[in-house]
Amino acid sequence: MRLRYRYRLYPTPSQRQSLARTFGCARVVFNDGLRARKDAQLAGLPYLTDGQLSARLTAAKATPERAWLGEVSAVALQQALADVNTACRNFFASVNGTRRGPKVGPPRRRSRKDVHQAVRFTANAHVTITKGRKLRLPKIGDVPVRWSRRLPSAPSSVTVLRDATGRHFASFVVEADADPLPAVAREVGVDLGLTHFAILSDGTTFEAPTLLRDAERKLGRAQRALARKTKGSHNRTKARAKVARVHAKVADGRRDFHHKLSSTVIRDNQAVYVEDLAVSGLGRTRLAKSVHDAGWSSFVAMLEYKARRHGRTLVRIGRFFPSSQRCSTPDCGATHGPTPLSVREWTCRACGAVHDRDVNAARNILAEGQRLVAAGRAETLNACGGTVRPGRPLAGPRETGTHPTSRRLAARPVGIPGRQAGEDVKLMLMPTASAGPIG
Ligand SMILES: [Zn+2]
Repeated sequence: MRLRYRYRLYPTPSQRQSLARTFGCARVVFNDGLRARKDAQLAGLPYLTDGQLSARLTAAKATPERAWLGEVSAVALQQALADVNTACRNFFASVNGTRRGPKVGPPRRRSRKDVHQAVRFTANAHVTITKGRKLRLPKIGDVPVRWSRRLPSAPSSVTVLRDATGRHFASFVVEADADPLPAVAREVGVDLGLTHFAILSDGTTFEAPTLLRDAERKLGRAQRALARKTKGSHNRTKARAKVARVHAKVADGRRDFHHKLSSTVIRDNQAVYVEDLAVSGLGRTRLAKSVHDAGWSSFVAMLEYKARRHGRTLVRIGRFFPSSQRCSTPDCGATHGPTPLSVREWTCRACGAVHDRDVNAARNILAEGQRLVAAGRAETLNACGGTVRPGRPLAGPRETGTHPTSRRLAARPVGIPGRQAGEDVKLMLMPTASAGPIG
C-alpha cells in the first residue's frame, strides 16, 4: 500500500527564500494555466489540451515577463500544470456525474496570500538524500531534515509544504508492505460520543481531547488582538502568525491523541466495529463545536487504514442503526425509542438491566457488527470481493497545491500504528481501494 511519510525540514534562510520562490513560480504557472483554459473557453476556442498547456509553459519561459520561471525546478512547474489538469478533470467528471462523492467546484486560482504553500517533485527531479542525510532539492540545495522515523523504501515523490506557522515539511510517498499483527481473539465495538471521546464495548472510556477548549481562551485573545491590528500592517502579520501557532498546537495535540488511541484499539482487537457517523450533518447543529473539536472523521480514517495495514477488520455500522435505543442484554434487545442526550443511564423495561448510555451503545455496535459479518453483509475493509465503500482518500497522487485539500493535508496528517508515539505518516488510499484480504 502507498503511505505518506512526513518529516520536518529546517531550511536555512537562503533555502527558505529559494523555497518561497519555487512556491511562487508554481503558483503563477498554475494560475496562468487556469487562465489560459478560461480565456480559450470564453473566446469559444476548443479546450486546451494538457500538451498545449505544457508547450505554452515552455514558450512563456522564453519571454522576458516569465523568464524568472527558469530560476526554479522545471519539475515543480510541470507538476503545477499537472494539478491544473487534475483539477479540471475532477470538475468535469463531477459535472457529468462520473465522479462519486461530493460535488467538486471549478478550479480556483491559487492565492499569494494563502498561508499554506506546496510544491511537488517527482522521481525525475533528481531529489536525493545526501550522504549527510540532507534532502537535496533541485535549485534549492541540501535541506536539513529531522528524520523522525525510517523511510521504509525509496520515495516516488516528495511534496514540500509550508504551513501557516511557517514550518516546512517534506512529505514522501512510499510503497510499504502490509504489516500484519499477530491475531488476537478480542473484538470491540466503539461508540464515539460527546461526553467521552470514545467508549469501548468492554466499558473502557477515553476522554475527549479538550485541547481546543483549553486553548480557546488563548485563541480568543489572539484573535481579538489580530482584529485590532491595522490591515496590511506588520503587527497584523505577527498577530496572524500567533493565531496560526495556537491553531497548530491544537491540531498537533489532537492528531497525537488520535494516533495513540487508534493504534491501541487496532493492536488489541482483531475486529473493530464503529458507527458511521454523519459528521457533516452534526456539524451544522448545536453540537457543532464539540463535533469538530473531537475530530471523529479523522479518527475513523486512522482506524481504517491501520486496520488495513495490520490485517485487522474494520466495519462501519450504518448510521441509522439505533445503537443507543436498544437494550444490549443478550436475548433481550428491547427497543426503547429515542432518549435525550442528557439521559446517561437507564433501566430496561423488559429485562430490568441498568445501562450506561454509551457502553450500551458500544455493545450494540459490537453485536450488530458481528451479526452483519456473520450474515456476510458487512462493508468490511478486507472482505473478499472488494470494498463496498472505498473510504475517504486522504491524499491523492497529485495532492500538492494550495487548494483546500492540501490545507487539510498539511493540518491533518495521520500516522502509522504501532509502537512509537508521535509518528508522522500519511496514508494514500489507492484510487481503486483494493486492499486485498490481509486479515
Ligand atoms: Zn433489556
